[in-house]
Amino acid sequence: MLIVQKFGGSSVADVGRIRNVAGIIAESYLLGNETVVVLSAQGDTTDELLEKAAEINPAPSKRELDMLLATGEQQSIALMAMCLEGMGLPVVSLTGWQVGVRTDANYGTARIRRVDTERLRRELDKKRIVLVAGFQGVNKFDDYTTLGRGGSDTTAVALAAALHADRCQIFTDVEGVYTADPRKVPGARKLEEITYDEMLELASMGAQVLMNRSVQLAKRYGVELEVLSSLVRAPGTKVKEVTKNMEEMKVTGIAKDDKVARLTAVGVPDRPGSAFKVLNAVSRAGINVDMIIQADTTASTNDMSFTVAEADADAAYKALTDRQAAIGFDHVTVDKSIAKVSVVGAGMMSSVGIASLVFEALNDEHINIQMINSSEVKISCVIDAASADRAVAAIHRKFFET
Ligand code: ADP
Ligand code: ASP
Ligand code: MG
Repeated sequence: MLIVQKFGGSSVADVGRIRNVAGIIAESYLLGNETVVVLSAQGDTTDELLEKAAEINPAPSKRELDMLLATGEQQSIALMAMCLEGMGLPVVSLTGWQVGVRTDANYGTARIRRVDTERLRRELDKKRIVLVAGFQGVNKFDDYTTLGRGGSDTTAVALAAALHADRCQIFTDVEGVYTADPRKVPGARKLEEITYDEMLELASMGAQVLMNRSVQLAKRYGVELEVLSSLVRAPGTKVKEVTKNMEEMKVTGIAKDDKVARLTAVGVPDRPGSAFKVLNAVSRAGINVDMIIQADTTASTNDMSFTVAEADADAAYKALTDRQAAIGFDHVTVDKSIAKVSVVGAGMMSSVGIASLVFEALNDEHINIQMINSSEVKISCVIDAASADRAVAAIHRKFFET
């Protein structure tokens, strides 16, 4: 069997954890499997590198930032290779460049275009364990790029797809995908299985256990994923196209995203084209807008609020204020202390009352809802960030703990 295993940052955080993971890799290899392993940077290395960069230059070029960030994963693969060498096992570590993980040119958020399998195949044919640095690739300028936070998941799925792997295991620090973040909600339940669509929605709404793009890729190439713990031996969660209990489960899980911000253009003239002009100003800056609401404030003006990723908030503010005179609104406010709480489930469209249960849970906790958004597979509410964990817990109790 050809197996791709991915271990996240906490799974390789220190020497003890590296030895532990080496044991898991060795076991797969010694069972006769062709074993390809994707590693993340150790512990908080990526955050520390970002801090280090900010100390030197608060606005470094994205190219140099990627050059720096790519080193985190390189440390992990080299250290793991040394550990496996010490155990007497044949192993080779490879960077994204050595493998040929080709990406588009977007530093910091690069998308994988293709993965060369030649070098990987050659190393596997030599009966070596192959360790690959996650999160990184190379663009058309032969520069390092990174795939966005949590990107090692995507590297693993891309390698599994390119190599037609029999299994793709995502090892992490929890036992699988739960109905809510098990670190925040003690009553959260481990899911035996989850569909790609539900997982994609949960991941996109803030459940960082898998990067959303890795799930997209897995769905596109039919790569079945298993999310499991590197620390506890227990069956994990299968992520796949169809699951056994698709019909019964109206709600699959609850997610929180507190890396969002709300902008409000105050006093937007109440006339055709105003909403377009406001949103166009933001989208022309390459910023994605998520939820939007418009409120009538005076006879002749509206307030237009929308949410963006927190990282884009300042750029969105600038894009709007640059157009303030031309559009004719009064001023812009930015609120970074908000969070989006979402309830996700494929069975939701065929069931009334889910939204009212969500609102009831928030009402019970006296949490004010600032914005609401719903689709066939989810309901999201924007609330005050300080109440977010309490909100998730309350909603979770309503759906899963009664
Ligand atoms: P890794 O370093 O292995 O990539 P991450 O920190 O990226 O790990 O993702 C694992 C974390 O995701 C868990 O520690 C958990 O706190 C968080 N998480 C959030 N939502 C969920 C969920 N629904 N199920 C499981 N874990 C979740
Ligand atoms: N080290 C990168 C990050 O912290 C990639 C990953 O962990 O998947 O985002
Ligand atoms: Mg991760």
